Amino acid sequence: MTTRIPHWIDGRLSSTPSSRTSPVYNPATGEIAAEVELAGKAEVDHAISGAADAARQWRHSSLSRRSQILFAFRALLHDRADMLAAIITAEHGKVLSDAGGEIARGMENVDFACGIPQLLKGGFSEQAATGIDVYSIRQPLGVVAGITPFNFPAMVPLWMCANAIACGNAFVLKPSEKDPSSALFIAALWKEAGLPDGVFTVLNGDKEAVDAILTNPQVKAVSFVGSTPIASYIYATGTANGKRVQALGGAKNHMVVLPDADVNMAADAAVSAAYGSAGERCMAISVAVAVGGVGDALIDAISERLPKLKIGPGTNPDSEMGPLITREHRDKVSSYIEAGAASGATVVVDGRDADLPTDGFFLGVTLLDHVTPAMSVYTDEIFGPVLCVVRAETYAEALELINDNPYGNGTAIYTRDGGVARQFQFEVEAGMVGINVPIPVPVGYYSFGGWKASLFGDTHMYGPEGVNFFTRGKVVTSRWPDPASSSVDLGFPRNH
Ligand code: NAD
Repeated sequence: MTTRIPHWIDGRLSSTPSSRTSPVYNPATGEIAAEVELAGKAEVDHAISGAADAARQWRHSSLSRRSQILFAFRALLHDRADMLAAIITAEHGKVLSDAGGEIARGMENVDFACGIPQLLKGGFSEQAATGIDVYSIRQPLGVVAGITPFNFPAMVPLWMCANAIACGNAFVLKPSEKDPSSALFIAALWKEAGLPDGVFTVLNGDKEAVDAILTNPQVKAVSFVGSTPIASYIYATGTANGKRVQALGGAKNHMVVLPDADVNMAADAAVSAAYGSAGERCMAISVAVAVGGVGDALIDAISERLPKLKIGPGTNPDSEMGPLITREHRDKVSSYIEAGAASGATVVVDGRDADLPTDGFFLGVTLLDHVTPAMSVYTDEIFGPVLCVVRAETYAEALELINDNPYGNGTAIYTRDGGVARQFQFEVEAGMVGINVPIPVPVGYYSFGGWKASLFGDTHMYGPEGVNFFTRGKVVTSRWPDPASSSVDLGFPRNH
């Protein structure tokens, strides 16, 4: 019998045998490994009502207690990282070392949230007026939800839940139905760390569960990460239902290589950032813009590296790149290679020719040269191991390409010229910029977010902006007068 993956409600696994299910694959073998239950509206509303009860209690917890639970959660996550990495690899397909890197980056957000007593310190102005003090505090929202994509089944939930819970909210997670087990593993760690039941909930599901979350009045904020069309829908629907929403979308990240760059360093970076995790990263480099005469040398240096990449099951310690998430997605990525060739791009390396296991959802790496902005391989987010090289005459032309692109997540520049790098940082229209760094995902004490169609809403994810997103401000004006000085005064209060 196929294993069923249930939900996590009120501090335990919770199954609804009658519910719809969706297959969860092992992408390395192509086999169905389990069926995940898909919550309907009734289950979502029931779980959220339990989370609301838990939130009312949890907001009374002291900052030191929250911090202790976060430290305990961090220790468990650290100790069980190998187990979690194995779960990620089994359902997502990425190689174990990459899964370990995802956990390490997710853990930075737990590290940050351990300092919640410091983060929630407000301001205090003594004697704002005679005998009057003014102070600001930040309070939790109640029930907040996270809706997450398949490509980082542990890191993205950790981006959200550590801060949300530390701020005193109950957090409801709707993970991707393609790889839901990491969320349940994380839920069990929270419980073991001492988090009260109901403060962390996992509702597995698809659009039906998402819509039930978006329309439930007890949910006060929604943090979303996924593709741009869905991000736009989540933002519109969530805000129309009175919620605070941050919705991070897709990307087309450009890496500019200037003629003075160290070509070998740039090629190493382009290969790592384009093909790591089979290109299924929102910060993957999908376009290299070769400026001036650097194009041929860059193509040669990248091509030299590609035959050496080891592609295979993520569980094999030698593998550097695993399969794609589903057969449909693999076939869609393949169809882009065809479309690129048909529209005139030079196929330098064709991933479809690679000799790879046929059972799983494998695809080799592809390098396309002489790509132009009119081609679908350039305009669309492919989300696979395909690197497009665009040739540009000048730095200004490269910059224009990026600034004209509808996405604005991450970007990078490779150069030895500090002046141009600084100019790029100033002029480029993207939320995260790497200077000789190919995947500039901010550390946990900064915040993550793109511009343009890569983010809907005005708050970036995690770090200080995450704390703001999961709290609301209150300002108290306080007087403890001497009763002897009290009198009636109908004038509008002035600050003296
Ligand atoms: P997706 O948009 O298909 O799914 C994301 C979430 O939305 C999932 O939980 C899914 O169940 C839900 N969903 C899907 N269709 C829905 C619908 N019609 N209505 C309501 N909910 C729906 O994204 P994905 O394929 O899981 O992930 C890959 C995408 O995520 C890529 O576009 C990638 O760039 C993006 N991403 C962005 C970031 C970022 O930080 N900007 C990070 C990771 C991934």
